[in-house]
Amino acid sequence: MRPVLKIPSRRVHNNMSSEQLRYLLLEAMGAYCVYCEAPLTVDIPYAHKISVSQTPHEFQVGAYTITNQVGLNYYRFNTAWVNQQLMCAACATAKGESPNLEDALKFLQAYDQVNNSGLFNTIAGKLSNRSRLSNDDWDTLFQVALQTWVSPDYSADEVGNLLYGAQGDPTYSFITYVHDSRTQQALHDAGLLRLDLTNGVQNWMTQAQTKVWVVPNETAIDAWQSQHGNDILDMKTRVKNTIRGLNLNYSNPTDTLRFDRRVDNRTEVFTMVEQAWNRLNNLVTALAGKRGFDQDSILFTPAISQITASIRQSLRATGHWSLWARAFQRNVLDSPSGNIWPRIDKDLRRLFLFNLLIEYEVDPGQMASQIQDFAGVRFTRGSLEVRPVIPGLDIDRVPFAI
Ligand SMILES: [Zn+2]
Repeated sequence: MRPVLKIPSRRVHNNMSSEQLRYLLLEAMGAYCVYCEAPLTVDIPYAHKISVSQTPHEFQVGAYTITNQVGLNYYRFNTAWVNQQLMCAACATAKGESPNLEDALKFLQAYDQVNNSGLFNTIAGKLSNRSRLSNDDWDTLFQVALQTWVSPDYSADEVGNLLYGAQGDPTYSFITYVHDSRTQQALHDAGLLRLDLTNGVQNWMTQAQTKVWVVPNETAIDAWQSQHGNDILDMKTRVKNTIRGLNLNYSNPTDTLRFDRRVDNRTEVFTMVEQAWNRLNNLVTALAGKRGFDQDSILFTPAISQITASIRQSLRATGHWSLWARAFQRNVLDSPSGNIWPRIDKDLRRLFLFNLLIEYEVDPGQMASQIQDFAGVRFTRGSLEVRPVIPGLDIDRVPFAI
């Protein structure tokens, strides 16, 4: 999941319409689903991170019977900037009303069994007595609800201040992709999928499918956990909650009318990533043979720059930034492929990746001279302009960029 920095370009007000909020979200993070990373094209839905559903809901947590509503305080969080997220219809449908008030309270109970903050008894007590919760209580519940999943977005508050927003998690590092043969049943048993088993196990659930699946990156999570200690709900559980909550691995090939095509789309993009990598690798290898291999400049020659630009365009069109980034990070930096790549200076390879996946320079002067020839319009030459490959990427959570 692409780490996103969600900062509104202007102050967000309570009375903003959903169209205005959507515009600010699109401007901040580009037209991509924050969870599955598919491009959002014609219909651009957006939804809440934490449920604000006002449907009545009764549940038991510890000694308390809570009769409230499914979501958190609607009036406080319906238009709150920290609670807005761009997502595709398939992710929004699968997500439904999770995480919600019940998830938050159960987490808070587990937290207090270790930390004795008293927060659980205070808040659950008030809710079960039907006393009003203060704004601070609701904000605590909101932060707690966020801790049950992982957040790709690091959100500012209404005025654009990150300090008072909601932190993002290292989702690019914690979530990865595998291309192999698995059954839906196996994914379900591993906690990476939610199947409707009310009619028993169907045939398609036990058929192996070779697709690209979303899985926790156990090595990265273990490394993080050994530094940060075990949280109440450990990070692997939070990552699994997120993958399962969004049902990112759901693939029923017998349902030809299904609207959820996320697994198939992801698998197609994976093939395009491989083809793009092969084109680049072949050209670098050919150039290295021809020119006596000048390792200082090979990745920035005009021929390679052209292919880099076309890969960026494919990435923008197909979305799934993390799929592209993972494959190129692996081949170019972590375990460089073939004979050529390991011989290129590591900093130059890192710079190349930055250019390909994060931001790049264009020379408006150079473009202008072409337009000038074409249309007779005059531009000033000179200054380079830096452009993001896609908007809103949070570089601090991309390990190869820092
Ligand atoms: Zn999605």
